[in-house]
Amino acid sequence: MTLIAKDIHKSYRSGPKEVRAVDGVSLQIERAESIAIVGPSGAGKSTLLHIMGGLDKPTSGKIILDDVDIYRLSDRKRSGVRNGKIGFVFQFYHLLPEFTAIENVMLPGMMKGPGSRGKGQGTRDRAREILRAVGLENRINHRPGELSGGESQRVAIARALVNEPEILLCDEPTGNLDSKTSASIYDLLFNLKSGRKMSLVIVTHDEKISSMVQETVRLKDGKII
Ligand code: ADP
Ligand code: MG
Repeated sequence: MTLIAKDIHKSYRSGPKEVRAVDGVSLQIERAESIAIVGPSGAGKSTLLHIMGGLDKPTSGKIILDDVDIYRLSDRKRSGVRNGKIGFVFQFYHLLPEFTAIENVMLPGMMKGPGSRGKGQGTRDRAREILRAVGLENRINHRPGELSGGESQRVAIARALVNEPEILLCDEPTGNLDSKTSASIYDLLFNLKSGRKMSLVIVTHDEKISSMVQETVRLKDGKII
């Protein structure tokens, strides 16, 4: 896996003003590498991460994932690439409240279409195994409302892993957690990264993360500083 961002720009128009959320960012991530993207609120971190993950088309620039220019693909093909290679973890977990932990984890596996390895009992077994790997074997039938913040984020991490992504993109994964729980979530992320040879991108305003990753990219006003 190699992900290359080439001269990414993203602008928003708000009335007469143009907001340059991302303003000429280039970077590269290799297999099993970890990077942090740090910077103050409004620096463009989330926008950049979403663009890198195929969720948001840049105004200009390219994302090359394993030699494929992903924004030149059809929406359907790009979703396929995203589902197969990329996992996302968000600050507020984005779990579906009416589903249990294991059902939330199974969802991305069910979306791979008929005949794929994602279906049925196989998915349930895999979801259970991943929930065990994130330390939640005793919570598989709990709904999000019955879980703590740290447990909810573990479910979200398990969900991101169910299709065995090659790269995990995390947007403020501990932004809603106390410092002790945050440390345990970071431990989990780095252990998973090492065990699975995944690449890991962590977006945060927390400078402490720099000591845990191989490379830190500092962003301000949409630019690398
Ligand atoms: P960060 O994640 O570093 O806090 P964001 O990427 O969310 O920063 O936002 C960067 C800038 O782009 C901010 O000024 C924000 O207000 C603006 N922005 C983000 N998304 C939109 C949008 N959908 N429409 C207009 N402006 C946006
Ligand atoms: Mg953000």
